[in-house]
Amino acid sequence: SEQVRRVEMFFFPFVGGGHQIPMIDTARVFASHGAKSTIIATPTNVLQFQNSILRDQHSGRSISIHSLPLPDDAVSPDIDMSATPFTDTSVLREPLRLFLLEHRPDCIVFDGFHRWAADLFDGLQIRRIVFTGNGCFSRCVTENIRRYVPHERVGSDYEPFVVPGVPDRIELTRSQLPPFAREKSGVFDKMFKTEEKSFGIVINSFCELEPAYVEYFRNQMGKKAWVIGPVSLCNGNVADKAERGKQASIDDQTCLSWLADKEPGSVLYISFGSLARLSPQQLLEIAHGLEASKHPFIWVVGKIFSKSRGEGEGGGEENWLPSGFEERIRESNRGLIIRGWAPQLLILEHAAVGGFMTHCGWNSTLEGVSCGVPMITWPVSAEQFYNEKLITDVLGVGVRVGSLEWMSFNVEKAALVGREKVEEAVKRLMGGGEAVVEMRLRAGELAEKAKRAVEQGGSSFKDADDLIVELVKVRL
Ligand code: UDP
Repeated sequence: SEQVRRVEMFFFPFVGGGHQIPMIDTARVFASHGAKSTIIATPTNVLQFQNSILRDQHSGRSISIHSLPLPDDAVSPDIDMSATPFTDTSVLREPLRLFLLEHRPDCIVFDGFHRWAADLFDGLQIRRIVFTGNGCFSRCVTENIRRYVPHERVGSDYEPFVVPGVPDRIELTRSQLPPFAREKSGVFDKMFKTEEKSFGIVINSFCELEPAYVEYFRNQMGKKAWVIGPVSLCNGNVADKAERGKQASIDDQTCLSWLADKEPGSVLYISFGSLARLSPQQLLEIAHGLEASKHPFIWVVGKIFSKSRGEGEGGGEENWLPSGFEERIRESNRGLIIRGWAPQLLILEHAAVGGFMTHCGWNSTLEGVSCGVPMITWPVSAEQFYNEKLITDVLGVGVRVGSLEWMSFNVEKAALVGREKVEEAVKRLMGGGEAVVEMRLRAGELAEKAKRAVEQGGSSFKDADDLIVELVKVRL
């Protein structure tokens, strides 16, 4: 109210669903805290997000999306960005610099994965804030492994070691570490350098979820961080929940009416996020495991890797399913397969959904937590094995499927998780044993805490307000 004019915040997401979706939600969060939010995107991104931004504008949120003018000769840098999170986005560097010079916002919140951005802002007199897309737990684990665990001393691949210095006893094996976490320099060094030069870091998490790690991140690692999540909770209405980032491949009504006649807490939702590609062999094992478990499920089949055809969307090639599988699940009304993109938030918050088989991407993890749904953890790559530890060992809201190895994009070499393991994990989580009853209670409590955190007076609400106040106070 004391503001002479609104604080103007720019948001510059990285590529891939897991980076863009939470950044757009972060722009929404700050808009609802009184900022004027502008999302900077590439032409393809604008197309993807403009419907949802229009809805925001209709409901009075001060938010807009702009495309950077790209040089004519640029290979559209956002076209195949979902293929690898290490895409070089440096073609955006000069257009972004010019855009910033022209508009001079109070700050730019940018994804730390734009590794060329470290020195872009030098001399621009524009405050920079980093968004990392991870929680504090995984940041602390990453940091301490880099600092204290020499690569050669970690031991044999499957031999567990204890992560030094973090608040809980966390055991990992070398096979679960991202290759880039073991390197001395590279991606992370650049990201950290960018962070050091920044005004601070915006984190999509909430203090009550990982208090010891938020504290560690701030006080031991010395980071200035505003913890403002779960940002997905800013999607209030059905349309916003149904369409995040991409148009869902299923009509939300079809999805909701399929769920409507299921028992509360009886359905397992299965998704591996926006990037992971599973092999047909692995999908076959999942299908057998699900069928043998006899529990109802919604299974999102995104990208599939096939040796002969390379990668593709979940449509078309059907020979990975056991014969007659789809007919059987359709007739018994026991399963729903979504090929492509699912309205994940709508599904997770539905009362019929009682379990989430997840690859432990940070956004999925937080969304599962926010909806009070216990999880079957099946990490695949990135920092997902760390998130698995948080879910199972620290929070006690999940059971492991037993995935042992970081597979990244080398799907063919990945160790298969067999159908028995899938069946066993599903039965354990969905079968209603005593341990799971407690898990459900804990998950429900966390969901309550998540909601309180983003409400007025909550910890995340306060952090978002604090950042805006600081930006006003110290206007350059
Ligand atoms: N998502 C979705 N529908 C899908 C797959 C993913 O809405 O079919 C959303 C999901 O809700 C989450 C994001 O995409 O917000 C995926 O991010 P996450 O960090 O979980 O995993 P990543 O895709 O980065 O591996």
